[in-house]
Amino acid sequence: MKLLLCKSCLDVLKLHEKTRFCYCGESGGRLTDSQGRRAVIWGENAETIGIANSSIVEAISENKEREESGFPTDHQGLPYGSSIDGWIIPSTSPAVIKEKEVTIGRDLYDENHKP
Ligand SMILES: [Zn+2]
Repeated sequence: MKLLLCKSCLDVLKLHEKTRFCYCGESGGRLTDSQGRRAVIWGENAETIGIANSSIVEAISENKEREESGFPTDHQGLPYGSSIDGWIIPSTSPAVIKEKEVTIGRDLYDENHKP
């Protein structure tokens, strides 16, 4: 799974084949294939986060088991859940093309953020 992170507004959203923009509109992107392996993102402050889909499934399952056996707790005694595998996709990765400026879909952002 690929997520778009905007370092300006700290919005995080899942990339789809349809162009999406962050809350502030500085960053945007979309998947360029239906399998979600490749994407294009726009904006000086746009980053892409990769999350291993299998780790999400495993973490949900592990959390379910812990509901019965008890969750581990942090130093304040608060329970914490299972971890997932995530990383910032490097700028040199061929899986994500980064452009500095929004070149496609600006009209979609404007359309969806009318006052
Ligand atoms: Zn933003």
